[in-house]
This record gives sequence, C-alpha cells and structure tokens, in this order.
Amino acid sequence: MSLTPEQIRQWLKAVPDPEIPHVSVVDMGMIGDISVEADQVRVELVPTFAGCPAIRLLQEQIGEVLAQHGAQAEVEVVYHRAWRPEDMTPEGWAGLRKAGFALPKRLSQDPQELLAEVACPKCGSEAVSLVSPFGPTACRAIFRCHSCGEAFELFKPPV
Ligand SMILES: [Zn+2]
Repeated sequence: MSLTPEQIRQWLKAVPDPEIPHVSVVDMGMIGDISVEADQVRVELVPTFAGCPAIRLLQEQIGEVLAQHGAQAEVEVVYHRAWRPEDMTPEGWAGLRKAGFALPKRLSQDPQELLAEVACPKCGSEAVSLVSPFGPTACRAIFRCHSCGEAFELFKPPV
C-alpha cells in the first residue's frame, strides 16, 4: 500500500478542532505540509494561535487516526509560519458560522482591519463594539451588539 498526502489529508478530516466540534483540523487550515517517505508520514500542524491549548492533544489524535490506518506518523508543530485564515476551507468557515461565531467579512492579515469589520451574527448590525480582545481563549475576541444587545465571539486570527 502506498500512501499519498491527499489520502492522509482525507483521513485527518476525522480529527475535530478541539474548541469547535464539527470542524475538522483540515477545514480549519491547521494541517500544513504532509510528506510520505517509505511509509513514514510527516504531518505539519499549524496552531491557529501560538498560545492555543490542546496542541499536544491534537498531535496525539492525529497520530492515533493515522495509526488506525496503519500509518506511522510524526506530527510536527509548526511555529515558523503563522496560521492564516486563507488556509481554511469553505466547510471550515461554514462550520464556524454554524457554531455561532462572528466572522470577519473580509479576510485580512491585518488584525486591526479584521476587528474593524465585524457584524453581529444574530441581527447583522454593524453597530458593535469590542468588549475584550481576548475571549475564553486567545483565539477569540468578545463583542457586544448595540442593536440587539447580544454579546458574541469573533474567531480571531493570530496577531
Ligand atoms: Zn445584534
């Protein structure tokens, strides 16, 4: 049996994001390069934020899923390049929206620009203000909507 990176990427869709169930690490754009050499698999794992918890857990889960398919995997956490929202798949964005996260309307590398273009996920109003740049985890920011009064979280790319 010869493995391909495409096959491995497909298998890894079984690994959910630790914070956002129903969205896989693949759809979150957290899987970087995959290489296969003589049945030894190397997978790059790109944290959505350097301070995000559960990276070790994810490494284990990825190793376990690949082991179920009989593949020996080495999971390397990548810190030399940042996770980018552009690496997310359309399924990933749809999953975040379904989970009730506000999403930036435009994908930008500039965090200020991202935070400036936020609409309430409940009523769509843009009359919102930032309550805290840090939500329950460093990946999230908390906003409040002035139209409906709802507080909501924005999924925030790394700064
Ligand atoms: Zn609202």
